[in-house]
Amino acid sequence: MGEITRALISVSDKRGVVEFARRLQDFGVEILSTGGSAKVLMADGVAVQEVSDYTGFPELLEGRLKTLHPKIHGGLLAKRGDNSHIRQMAEHGIPAIDLLCVNLYPFAETVASTDCTLEEAIENIDIGGPTMLRAAAKNWESVTVLVDPNDYAAVLQEMEQSYGGVGASTRFRLATKVFAHTARYDGAIANYLSSLGPDGNRTTFPQTLSLQFEKVQDLRYGENPHQTASFYRDGSGGGLADARQLQGKELSYNNIGDGDAAVALVMEFAEPACCVVKHGNPCGVAVGLDLLSAYQRAWAGDPVSAFGGIIACNRPLDAQTAELMSGQFIEMVLAPTISPDARPILAKKKNLRVLAFDDGRAWRRAGWDYKRVRGGLLVQDFDQSMEAEADWTVVSERAPTVQEARDLAFVWRVGKYVRSNAIVYGREGQTIGIGAGQMSRVDAARCGAAKALELGFDLRGAALASDAFFPFRDGVDAAAAAGVKVIIQPGGSIRDEEVIASANEHGIAMVFTGVRHFRH
Ligand code: 5GP
Repeated sequence: MGEITRALISVSDKRGVVEFARRLQDFGVEILSTGGSAKVLMADGVAVQEVSDYTGFPELLEGRLKTLHPKIHGGLLAKRGDNSHIRQMAEHGIPAIDLLCVNLYPFAETVASTDCTLEEAIENIDIGGPTMLRAAAKNWESVTVLVDPNDYAAVLQEMEQSYGGVGASTRFRLATKVFAHTARYDGAIANYLSSLGPDGNRTTFPQTLSLQFEKVQDLRYGENPHQTASFYRDGSGGGLADARQLQGKELSYNNIGDGDAAVALVMEFAEPACCVVKHGNPCGVAVGLDLLSAYQRAWAGDPVSAFGGIIACNRPLDAQTAELMSGQFIEMVLAPTISPDARPILAKKKNLRVLAFDDGRAWRRAGWDYKRVRGGLLVQDFDQSMEAEADWTVVSERAPTVQEARDLAFVWRVGKYVRSNAIVYGREGQTIGIGAGQMSRVDAARCGAAKALELGFDLRGAALASDAFFPFRDGVDAAAAAGVKVIIQPGGSIRDEEVIASANEHGIAMVFTGVRHFRH
């Protein structure tokens, strides 16, 4: 059992450190500390010895040199069970340091500010901290190392139960955490420095990209049962990585991908909204005065495809809606929260996965989107653009009516979340036909229309969204034949004139957004 007699505390983030040090003192631990940390501890009555007094060497170079001394690093690196190490320590007067509590200069936080200068960034590169952390972590068999204030309580508890000692498994776990932490720290430095262009200004994407992810859970399998899989979090907080699963079967790889897409879609809407997702595509989406009507209309958008689907809501899930949902075969429900009276209703469906994702902020945050290709990684920022009516240009002779404009705003939002080529038909806040993932736009238009007619919807007067421009007039002709009266699309084809002429011939009101929303 790694008994603790001497500890070194040197922290930038001073949260919880006074209480931690005081408890160590109660265990009879002798405490060493650096300038700022020592001051904070002594101010609260904790007896500490300053590292500079301990080594007999002052802090130099405005703090660049505080703990880089053989008496410190020898104390952290010496193996307690090794006679040669013990002899050398005695020879050179180096006592053992059994516990190290260090957290680093806040580099990532410093460079997160847009007006951070290179000089400020450089001064926030911690040197002694990572060096001590790595030494202690390498020597985990003899040293307990803490880099995260959230671990203070567990270590104290273990010391209490083990006569002032910390067990090997805890020491190993804490050491592993340290190497992940220092790797992330150095990664942040490399990302920042390599994002500075020749003019010293920051570019969006660094020359070298270090990423670190932490496992959330292993998954039963990947996209298919013969593929193994895991889910990792990126540390930005929120999203499905931090959602609470309240019941149901274990999440699968496809559940997570579909759930993420489903929540992203409903978070586009300010009004109550619900969608059903299958294989990464929405098959029914609706808004309503309340969640119940949004759900009913989303389901009705394509009840055939909705079988076994994933449902996302942008409002707390109430009992009445839960009751209706539980009458259908669905894989998963996601909502910001699940009301207490909806819980027992859903609980009757044991296998149904129910997830609460809280405020959904993670889906609205700017961030990087990654796509793995062989030999590399594609990085782009998330598609956060959404064009409001004020951004549109009416290009047809006829302008949309107020109701038609409302329909266009709805189908345009949905279209952003349908795989390309995407065509969405809808009316009054409900999708009635979605053509997804087709290799030609006219096929997407035909698929969506065929789906609508098959389900008994009347397409006369419906609105249509196309995620990218119509390359030819054939897609518009097909939509007109189906009865569509209003179309929203980015525009920008060399044949726009031909496409607009088709709209005018059919009395269609057509709007250009100027922005494309491919999704692959
Ligand atoms: P304090 O506030 O106690 O003066 O400083 C604590 C911070 O100094 C910690 O973040 C720790 O990682 C860092 N630190 C400790 N020793 C050294 C050193 O020798 N050089 C540098 N640059 N930082 C150190």
